[in-house]
Amino acid sequence: MDAAARKAKRMTDLPLYLMDEVVRLKDQAVARGVDVIDLGVGDPDFSTPPHILAATHAALENAANHHYSSYRGFATLRRAFADWYRDRFGVVLDPDTEVLPLIGSKEGIGHVHLAFVEPGDEVLLPDPGYPTYQGGTILAGGTPRYYPLRAETGWLPDLGELERHDLSRVKLMHINYPSNPTTASADLALFDAVAAFGLRHGIIICHDNAYSEVYFDGIRPPSFLQAKDATEIGIEFHSLSKTYLMTGWRIGVAVGHAGVIAALGDVKSNYETGIFPVVQQAGVAALTGDQSLLDTMRRHFQRRRDLFAGGLARLGYRVQIPTATFYVWGGIPGGEPSARFAKRLLDDAGVVVTPGAGFGPHGEGYFRAALTVDETRLAEAIERIRRITV
Ligand SMILES: *Cc1c(COP(=O)(O)O)cnc(C)c1O
Repeated sequence: MDAAARKAKRMTDLPLYLMDEVVRLKDQAVARGVDVIDLGVGDPDFSTPPHILAATHAALENAANHHYSSYRGFATLRRAFADWYRDRFGVVLDPDTEVLPLIGSKEGIGHVHLAFVEPGDEVLLPDPGYPTYQGGTILAGGTPRYYPLRAETGWLPDLGELERHDLSRVKLMHINYPSNPTTASADLALFDAVAAFGLRHGIIICHDNAYSEVYFDGIRPPSFLQAKDATEIGIEFHSLSKTYLMTGWRIGVAVGHAGVIAALGDVKSNYETGIFPVVQQAGVAALTGDQSLLDTMRRHFQRRRDLFAGGLARLGYRVQIPTATFYVWGGIPGGEPSARFAKRLLDDAGVVVTPGAGFGPHGEGYFRAALTVDETRLAEAIERIRRITV
């Protein structure tokens, strides 16, 4: 008998990771010689800014940075995150108890479940939503409880509807604004309501703020921690990946409720041994250095947004012009299933997008396009989409 075939049940509960499937189909098309325009994966084409690279080179030359470090991260890095939160959001954090650096925020989002979720416990997850909330829940033995997001309500959770059902088994709730994949933003009033909801029912709120700095038209997204009593009931994940164009570097942070942060730290201390010290130094340089590069990044993405979302709208697609994130969330005309639309787009036009249903059943009827190629290629993508649009 093949010993590797006797997998844990949680492995069979785990769905195929969405991006793996998108990448597989794309690789097949590239192997066939197709000139593929890849709007599938949310990884910007811009390189990490030079002053961050310079700090990295210097840190690399210092042999002290070649060793194990603590899962808690350098004090200088925790301080840099705390100062950044104060300057950006007006949120005051204790760097020793309310800030925990992560090996990318996905790492913390996955691991937080292990600290709180037992078999039989439930986790509230957005549908459609980022797949790691579900993966982390299942790997911890918990039960995902999807809450629907709908266009009619601005892709925001309906807390009143949730409260009409039994919430006694729910331990944790994930929210994510600005949202991947829907691009919707939330205001402080929503965060106030979610924090109060969490406090009423003893549900830990985990807010994923990966896109707080990728905003347009001067509308700056808030932090969940600005909400009333938020640090009594929740934490927020932030990441340097999208903010400083550092997706491959693997550095993020969890901030907020000291007890939740400590529990997440206890899990981490058993699984890993800190972010590469050189990357921690790079993170300090990013957080404390020149911030004007963020404006440049936003201007680029805003031009791409105008070009692509505007182009789709002219072709008759239902599309909301996003005020944040580098995605466009498009409605598929004619009731075509999203997986079929995405496959047709790849096969007939060589354009990769992610089918909305891959983010959950309520994503059906939509597709997500990542604005991670330059304007010439985006214009080409619109032209190709025009040709396959009936
Ligand atoms: C990109 C992304 C992340 C993860 O980023 P890391 O690189 O792991 O820090 C988390 N949440 C959402 C919604 C994302 O799109």
